[in-house]
Order: sequence, then C-alpha cells, then structure tokens
Amino acid sequence: MRILVTNDDGYLAQGIRTLAEAASRLGTVHVVAPDREQSATSHSLTLHYPLRVREVEPGVQVVDGTPTDCVVLAVGELLPERPNVVLSGVNHGANLGDDILYSGTVAAAMEATVLGIPAVAISYTGRDPERIPEWTELLTTLLRQLILRDDFPADTLLSVNLPAVDPADVRGVRVTRLGRRAYVGSLTRARDPSGREYFWIGGGESQWWGGPDSDFRAVHAGYISVTPLHLDLTNYSLLEGIARWDLKL
Ligand code: MN
Repeated sequence: MRILVTNDDGYLAQGIRTLAEAASRLGTVHVVAPDREQSATSHSLTLHYPLRVREVEPGVQVVDGTPTDCVVLAVGELLPERPNVVLSGVNHGANLGDDILYSGTVAAAMEATVLGIPAVAISYTGRDPERIPEWTELLTTLLRQLILRDDFPADTLLSVNLPAVDPADVRGVRVTRLGRRAYVGSLTRARDPSGREYFWIGGGESQWWGGPDSDFRAVHAGYISVTPLHLDLTNYSLLEGIARWDLKL
C-alpha cells in the first residue's frame, strides 16, 4: 500500500506528522505537502508562477504551492509509483458543513478523487492541535478500516472529523451528511497605522445547523463523523424543473 500524505497547514504542522505516523503503520508513506500554511485555499491550482520542490527529509517533499498543486505534482512527477490512496490532514480545525467549500485539506482529497485515487480527508475539530498526537492509535484503527478495502467507492472521497474530546471518550463512528454553517461578524473593516482602509476576513462566530444525521451533530455528541462526498454538484432534483423554464434563443 503506497500512501501519499498531504495537508493544507504546511509540512511542519502537528496534524500531518500524526497522520504520517498513523499511515506508516498501514503502508509506505510519501509526504508531499505545502511549505507553508495554505488553509482556505480550496481547490486552487498555481498556474502563473513555477513551483519549487524541496526534500526536507527522506520521504518528505515540500512545495511552494497549494494542496492541490501538491497532489498534482506528487502523482504526476514526484512519487516513484502512483499511490493507492491519498490522505489529507490532520487539519488543525473542523471541516464540517460549508467548511468543505473553502478547505484546502478537503480539496487535496478531491484532487485525488479527480485523478481516480481513493482519498480521505481528516480534520480535528478541537482548538488544541498540540493534542492531535493523542489520536495516533485511534486514527490508525479507523484508517485501516477505511483504506485497506477493495470496495472503496469510486468518484467519492471520505471526510472524517474528529470530535473535540479526549480520544478515550470517543463514543464511536457515525456516517453523516453535511450540515450547514454560517459565519457572523467575520468581516473586519478598519484602518491601518497610516490611515488606509483595509478589510480582513476571518474570526467571528459561527452558527451551525443540521439534522440528527449531520456531521455537526455527530462531532458535538462525541462521535467521529465520516461523510462520503462526491464532486458532481449537479442538482438532479431540479433538472426537470429548470427544463420546464423552456429556455429559448
Ligand atoms: Mn488548515
């Protein structure tokens, strides 16, 4: 089992170290990760400047690009063979509900799906990433069941969120659907020391909602959520309805 490990928090993040450790118990690990924080870069691809790759230690290569760049370079050029699976994370922070639209962690797994490779994104919903190493055993157990199987679904990635509890207190695993999240007060408008106006996106409070089978409910109840995601954004339930608009030229 050849496993590509990447993330969006940069190769120095605690989360990717823990993930690489867990993955190393299941196969041969290659790390190809951004050389710096790339959170919330979503699925962006670097087209307008060349990408540089450095090997910082055996089996760990870093790229001055996005998580998607990392997967494209790793699969296309850097790895000696095509990986059997791509793991992304462990993200320092949740990727629940609408978060996945912005997440570089989930996008890296999506890129693997685009390339036809099974992929799992893993995110830690706690605010204390220094505790992520405590999850190594549990993560190994879970990943063994998710990736060492021959019926991993095609055109699908799995998004896993770890609850903000002690690993010993995890109540189990729930297969979930995406909830919804909205941010309030996350746009700052202010002036810099020289008086020029600036805007800053980030922070604020988030509100979430979702049914009993949602990812939010699961992690708030102390479960690990596993959400299967696919990339086809077509709203099938509206195909006939929009067709009835009878659009003409
Ligand atoms: Mn991140």
